[in-house]
Amino acid sequence: MTQQEAINTEDLLRSRYDVVVVGGGNAALCAAISAHENGARVLVLEAAPYEERGGNSHYTGGAFRFAYRGVEDLMQIAPGMSKEELENVDFGSYSEEQFLEDMFELTEYRTDPELCELLVRSSFETAKWIASQGVKLQPGLGRQAYKVDGKFKFWGGLALHIWGGGEELLKALYANAARRGISMAYETPALDLLQEDGRVVGVKARSQGRPIEIRAGAVILACGGFESNPEMRARYLGPGWDAAKVRGTRFNMGEGLMMALRAGARPHGNWSGCHSVAWDVNAPPFGDLTIGDQFQKHNYPFGIVVNARGERFIDEGANFHSHTYAKYGGEIMKQPGMYAWQVFDDKVTHLLRSEYRIRRVTKAEAQTLEELAGKLTGVDPDAFLRTVHAFNAACRTDIPFNPNVRDGRSTEGLGINKTNWANPLDKPPFHAYHVTTGVTFTFGGLKVTENAEVEGLYGGTVPGLYAAGEMVGGLFYQNYASGTGLMSGATFGRFAGAHAAQHAAGGALKQAS
Ligand SMILES: Cc1cc2nc3c(=O)[nH]c(=O)nc-3n(C[C@H](O)[C@H](O)[C@H](O)COP(=O)(O)OP(=O)(O)OC[C@H]3O[C@@H](n4cnc5c(N)ncnc54)[C@H](O)[C@@H]3O)c2cc1C
Repeated sequence: MTQQEAINTEDLLRSRYDVVVVGGGNAALCAAISAHENGARVLVLEAAPYEERGGNSHYTGGAFRFAYRGVEDLMQIAPGMSKEELENVDFGSYSEEQFLEDMFELTEYRTDPELCELLVRSSFETAKWIASQGVKLQPGLGRQAYKVDGKFKFWGGLALHIWGGGEELLKALYANAARRGISMAYETPALDLLQEDGRVVGVKARSQGRPIEIRAGAVILACGGFESNPEMRARYLGPGWDAAKVRGTRFNMGEGLMMALRAGARPHGNWSGCHSVAWDVNAPPFGDLTIGDQFQKHNYPFGIVVNARGERFIDEGANFHSHTYAKYGGEIMKQPGMYAWQVFDDKVTHLLRSEYRIRRVTKAEAQTLEELAGKLTGVDPDAFLRTVHAFNAACRTDIPFNPNVRDGRSTEGLGINKTNWANPLDKPPFHAYHVTTGVTFTFGGLKVTENAEVEGLYGGTVPGLYAAGEMVGGLFYQNYASGTGLMSGATFGRFAGAHAAQHAAGGALKQAS
């Protein structure tokens, strides 16, 4: 759909809709498509202008987590995989049990068991559904697999990524919505919900500067968390979080959550928690679509991370980065000056992902550790050298290094040991990357039923109100399994769309009778 085809205020006021979807990212588009599949006339309200549509989903690299039994399952989702890919890649499998275990372990057994199980057990069907809507997937080589004996071997359960990342994901979903005749209104933020006798019957919004009311049989909120709003970050996440950089959209201001709470919705999940990562210290305050997710720096398991005092403060090798990256942004947040340096030697240069080679990277390089110490802005050089020498001496080099498994090549005897992939920093050139905290999205959300219907504060539901994507609370606590955000948005979006369409049809039948 082009900008010109978007709906204007007059059209909005004239038209009638069964389902209004608030938001323009992955969850919203999946909800809109699913509602249309189930017979509803659908309107999508996007706060952002056309050029910035798509929320955080637009910035993603396209990691997409789902359970699969083997390559036959993957071929149902990515039938275009070449013979070469099939021969040269060991995809392994990722069982529902493994996915559940990852979610439980990462969230320290706090994830909502019912919602988590629904997410995991529907994940393969959701992947097939999104592929059937025109979204292409491909093996995530180079991100989630390393070569062993000439063959790529996958680890960590992320075999397929969305081809072309968030940009292509949204292109495919918006094209699908346009083919279906789903109406799109840009620069039209929803401001509040319309309620009658406790039921949600539409939204108040602002269109071209003018307050309007749009009535509908059901409303789906898929308008993200409060990560873009510094006042809410400080209020819910805590002091200092207002100063963090935002990795994605500037439009997720928490308005959807606030309007749902005003309408009697039940909050759920980790309202003081968020997904945050190591992010280039010189990145702009919000995401930049020309760079996408490349300000992130996720390969710290192959090096060490030091703070201003020259000290290590995390176990860089506690697990694969996909199990730790989403909480280590919060650890950087707690360090003096809210920054850190990731330090590597040349032995692991070939293992670093493309994000370490972009032009806009804040990097220091040197032939000796002493020279590097002088180049790490804001770091005590003597303390840094003491840290590196102690680290090097503590590495269990008798255990072989293997980036594909948790190799157990640890350090011994340090205050904070590195559990895996501990290589002495001894091969020049040495290179280091200056990072701060980048917030991805907030974890607090709304309690929803298995139909993605929003639950009421004191029980029951808020009739006519559904939620999807970041707005669903209870899945993530403290930490997160990479690729689950897009999967959660697609899954709960699909459910929300189908059930909102049914609810709206029921409402229409009731009104007619
Ligand atoms: C840099 C980066 C990389 C990421 N990489 C991955 C990845 O590889 N895999 C993965 O699974 N996840 C990834 N994520 C997380 C992922 O982006 C989110 O989990 C997911 O996209 C959330 O989808 P959503 O539809 O709920 O929210 P969003 O995509 O953020 O969409 C929210 C929408 O609501 C709109 N909106 C907000 N307020 C209003 C309002 N009042 N009225 C109308 N519209 C409103 C916004 O403009 C936006 O269009 C990444 C995130 C970032 C920032």
